[in-house]
Amino acid sequence: MYFHSFSHLSYCIHFLLWIGIACTNSACGQQPASSKVARVALPLSEAEWKARLSPEAFEVLRQKGTERPYTGEYEDHWEAGVYVCKGCDSELFKSDTKFDAGCGWPSFYQAIHKTGIREVEDFSHGMHRIEVQCANCGGHLGHVFPDGPQPTGLRYCINSVSLGFRPTTNAKLKPKNPH
Ligand SMILES: [Zn+2]
Repeated sequence: MYFHSFSHLSYCIHFLLWIGIACTNSACGQQPASSKVARVALPLSEAEWKARLSPEAFEVLRQKGTERPYTGEYEDHWEAGVYVCKGCDSELFKSDTKFDAGCGWPSFYQAIHKTGIREVEDFSHGMHRIEVQCANCGGHLGHVFPDGPQPTGLRYCINSVSLGFRPTTNAKLKPKNPH
């Protein structure tokens, strides 16, 4: 294979990685036992996303908006279960990795699958941050910061409106505020 430039090579590698992710999320790859196949046929057009999502979810997931702190449904939510992407139902975070960061948004120290999310450099608003996207549908979820608790030291700061929640059957409730 001939590459015109490094960026072309990089593009091809990203494309191959994308194919790899697509395979893990579909019948052609071997899936981890806890992984669920997303049920949305992708890609969707902007009009289709608008029809599928609430205006608030569309603004955050598809236009990289941010919900106001302390307003989201899952900011102070401590039930046991799995948080999924509001855009495509992919499983993203488990409740036992959620912690109270006091920042006004749901915070997790780890994603369920490293391949379930995509981390992208973000230079918007005069800051250098790492954006977190759903790897399956490309929806904007939030940002990740290096100030979380162990064992990862990471804080995935995620908009509630980007998430759905599936409670674990017969699970006991976690303490409302673990700190
Ligand atoms: Zn998604």
